[in-house]
Amino acid sequence: MLEAKDSEKTPLEKLGEFGLIDHLTQVFTLKQPSTEFGIGDDAAVLKFKDKNVLVSTDQLLEGIHFDLSYMPLKHLGYKAVVVNLSDIYAMNGIPTQVTVSMAVSNRFPLEALEELYSGIQLACEMYQVDLVGGDTTSSDRGLYLSVTAIGQVEENESVYRNGAQPNDLLVVTGDLGGAYMGLQVLQREKEVFKVNPNNQPDLEPYSYIVERQLKPEARKDIVSLLKELDVTPTAMIDISDGLSSEILHLCSKSKVGCMLYEDKIPLDPTVISACEEFKLDSTMVALSGGEDYELLFTIKQEDFPKIKGNPNLTVVGHMTEADRGAHLITRNEQSIPLKAQGWNSFG
Ligand code: ADP
Ligand code: MG
Repeated sequence: MLEAKDSEKTPLEKLGEFGLIDHLTQVFTLKQPSTEFGIGDDAAVLKFKDKNVLVSTDQLLEGIHFDLSYMPLKHLGYKAVVVNLSDIYAMNGIPTQVTVSMAVSNRFPLEALEELYSGIQLACEMYQVDLVGGDTTSSDRGLYLSVTAIGQVEENESVYRNGAQPNDLLVVTGDLGGAYMGLQVLQREKEVFKVNPNNQPDLEPYSYIVERQLKPEARKDIVSLLKELDVTPTAMIDISDGLSSEILHLCSKSKVGCMLYEDKIPLDPTVISACEEFKLDSTMVALSGGEDYELLFTIKQEDFPKIKGNPNLTVVGHMTEADRGAHLITRNEQSIPLKAQGWNSFG
C-alpha cells in the first residue's frame, strides 16, 4: 500500500485531527450494555453495576514490536487489540471496551490508517468489544500504538498470578511456538526479497505458523469453557513472552516451584517441521518463543477428571514447594532449571 504513488493517497493534513478521528471511527458500532457513551466527548462513560472492572494497557512501537515490511497494517490493528484482550481473559474476565491511542508520522496517508482501523474494527467485531475512545497525535517518525482494554469479571472470580499451590497441576491451552516460527519464516522471506524483489514467496506450507504470528487470537473460548467444566484456576497468566518466563512469573508470585515435563509440551506438527528446517530445538522455541497468546493456568488435582481429554487443554507439569525451584524435566529425565531467557542459557 505504501508503495503506491503518493499522488493517489490522501495526506493526513487534508482532514485535520478531528476530521481524521471522525473518519476512522464512524463505522464502529456500540454493542456492550456497559457502554453508556463512547467516542465524542471528553471521556467515555461506562456502567458496570455489580461487576469488577479490569483494565490493561499495552504499547506497540514500530521497529521494536512490529515491522511494517512484513506486517500488513490491517493485521497490526487486529493484533494490537487482540493482545490486550488476552490480558483480560488471563484474569478470567470478559473484555468489553478498548481505547486506541496512536502517534503517527505524515509518511502515513489516510489510506494506511484506514487499513489499521479496519483491523481494529474486525477485532472489535470478533470479540464483541466497543471502541470507546483514544488519542491521536503526530510523531516525527514511525508509528506508535497504545491500546487499553477494559473488561468485567464477577466479584470474587478474578484469577490472579499468585494463587498457585504446591501439587496444583499446570495446564496450557492450544499449542506453543507457532508465532515464533512464523516470525522466522517472515524474516527469512524479507531477506530473500531484499536480494531478489521478483521472488514471490510461497508461504502456503507455513500458513498456520505465519498466521499465528500475523493474526494471533486471544483464548476467548477458555474462560467460558472453564466455567462449563466447573473449574476455577488457582492462578492464570497469558503466554505473551514464552512458556518459561510465564511459569517463572506464576512461581514467583505464588511462591511455589514447578516441574515442567518436556514430553508434554504441546507442539503443532508444522512447528516441529519448521524447527527442523531452521535447525532450532522445538522445546526451546516453546519455552522462549513468545507471542502465542495461549493461557497458562494451575488447577487443583481434584479437578483433573473435569479437564481430562479436552483437546484444548494439556497438563504440562505440576507445582511444588518453592524451595525445589522451577525445572524442566527433559525427555531423558534430566532436570534443568528454567530460565526466563531461553536461548543458549541451558548450556
Ligand atoms: P481531547 O482533546 O479531550 O483529548 P480528542 O479530540 O483527543 O479529545 O478526542 C475526541 C474524541 O475522539 C474522544 O472521545 C476520544 O476518546 C476520541 N479519539 C481520539 N483519538 C482517537 C483514536 N485514535 N481512536 C479512537 N478514538 C479516538
Ligand atoms: Mg485527546
